[in-house]
Amino acid sequence: MNDPSGRTPRAPSGEEHRLLRESVRAFTAREIAPHVADWERAGELPRALHEKAAAAGLLGIGFPEDVGGAGGDLFHTMVVIEELIEGGGSSGVCAGLFTHTIALPHIVAVGDPSQVDRFVRPTLAGRTIGALAVTEPDAGSDVAALRTRAVRDGDHYVVNGTKTYITSGARADFVTVAVRTGEPGHRGISLLVVEKGTPGFTVGRRLEKLGWWCSDTAELSFADARVPATNLVGAAGTGFRQIVAHFQTERLFMAIEAYATAQRALTLAIAWAKARQAFGARLADKPVVRHKLAEMARRTDVAREYVRAVVGRTLTGEDVAREVAMAKNTAVEACRAVVDEALQIHGGLGCMRECEIERHYRDARILAIGGGTTEIMNEVIADRLGLEP
Ligand SMILES: Cc1cc2nc3c(=O)[nH]c(=O)nc-3n(C[C@H](O)[C@H](O)[C@H](O)COP(=O)(O)OP(=O)(O)OC[C@H]3O[C@@H](n4cnc5c(N)ncnc54)[C@H](O)[C@@H]3O)c2cc1C
Repeated sequence: MNDPSGRTPRAPSGEEHRLLRESVRAFTAREIAPHVADWERAGELPRALHEKAAAAGLLGIGFPEDVGGAGGDLFHTMVVIEELIEGGGSSGVCAGLFTHTIALPHIVAVGDPSQVDRFVRPTLAGRTIGALAVTEPDAGSDVAALRTRAVRDGDHYVVNGTKTYITSGARADFVTVAVRTGEPGHRGISLLVVEKGTPGFTVGRRLEKLGWWCSDTAELSFADARVPATNLVGAAGTGFRQIVAHFQTERLFMAIEAYATAQRALTLAIAWAKARQAFGARLADKPVVRHKLAEMARRTDVAREYVRAVVGRTLTGEDVAREVAMAKNTAVEACRAVVDEALQIHGGLGCMRECEIERHYRDARILAIGGGTTEIMNEVIADRLGLEP
C-alpha cells in the first residue's frame, strides 16, 4: 500500500469521478476543513456554506437537472461524501449540509411543478434549507405509530403535534413533515410541507447532543398550524410508502459516511503512528500498533467494497433492501471499531477537543441510530431470511 492514507484506490474511478474528487477536495480544503471547529462551537453550519456548495456544483449532485439539480447518481454522491470527510470534514458536516437529500426526494419524485419551484430549486441553489420531520417523542423506529395529526379544513390542513431530533430543524425554511391524515397505522400517513413563519409552527429547543455538533437538531411543534393543502406531497395516505422508499438512499448515505469516517480515522492514526515516538521508536514500528492499523485498514476496505457493491446494485434497479441494511450495519460497525482504535493510538491527545479524532469518535456513535437503528436494520434483514413458518 503506497498511499499514505492506507487507502486502496477503487471504482468509481472514471475520469468524471476523478475530476469530481479533485473539485470536492479543493472545496473542502478551502471552504470546510479550516472552519469545522468554529461551526462545532456555533452548533450550526452557516447559510453561506450552502450557497458556496451550490455554486461549486456540489449541492445538486444526485438530483435531475430539470428540477435544478446537477445530475449524477449515487456514485457521484459517494465521491462527494468520501472526499469531504477525507479532506477534514465530518459526518456532522454531511448531515447539516446535505439535509436536503432527505427533505427533497419525495417532492422530486412526486414532481408537482409548483412544489418543485417553491422548495426544490431554491434549496438546490443554496438559498433555502429544508428538513425532514418523521420522528416524534413517542414514535421513532415505529414510524407507523406517529401521532402528529393533519385534519383537512377547506383548502388547508390543520396540523397539531410534536417532532423531535430533527436535523437542520432550527435553520430550516421548510420541513417535509410526516403527518397522520387518516386511519391509525401506516396507511393513514401523509407528507406535508410546512413552511417557516406558518402561524402555530414553532421551533422549540435546539437539542444539545453527543456528536454532529455543527449540525443543528431541534424539536418542532405544531399547534393549529394551517398549512395549504397544495403542500401535500403526493396523494393522502401514501406518506409511509414514500418514506420507506427513500429510506434506502438515506441508509446508503450513512453507510458511506461510516466507511469514509473510518478511512479518515485510519489516515489520522497512520500519520500519528509515524510521528509519535515512545520507548525510543515510532509507534508505527511497534508490532501491536502495526497490527491494529492492519486490522483497521481491513475493516475499512471490506466495508467500503461492500457498500460500493450494494450502491452499484441499487443503481441497476435491483431490490436490495436487505443488502442496504447489511451495508449500513457493516460500515457502522467498522467505523465504530476503527475510530475507537484510532483514538487509542492517539493516546491522551485523542481525548482532546483540539484533536480531530475526538470529533469523529463522537460523531460515529450517531450513525448506528440515525436513518434506522442497527436493530431495525437487523429486522429488515431477518424479514428477508425466509424465517416464517
Ligand atoms: C443526531 C440525530 C439526528 C436525527 N435526525 C432526524 C431527522 O432529521 N428527522 C427525523 O425524522 N428523525 C431524525 N432522527 C431520529 C432517528 O431517526 C431516531 O432516533 C431513530 O429512528 C430511532 O428512534 P428512537 O430514537 O425513537 O428510538 P426507539 O425507536 O425508541 O428505539 C430505542 C431502542 O430500541 C430498539 N428497538 C426499537 N424497536 C425495536 C425492535 N422491533 N426490535 C429490536 N429493537 C428495537 C432500537 O433499535 C433502539 O436501540 C435523528 C436522530 C439523531 C440521534
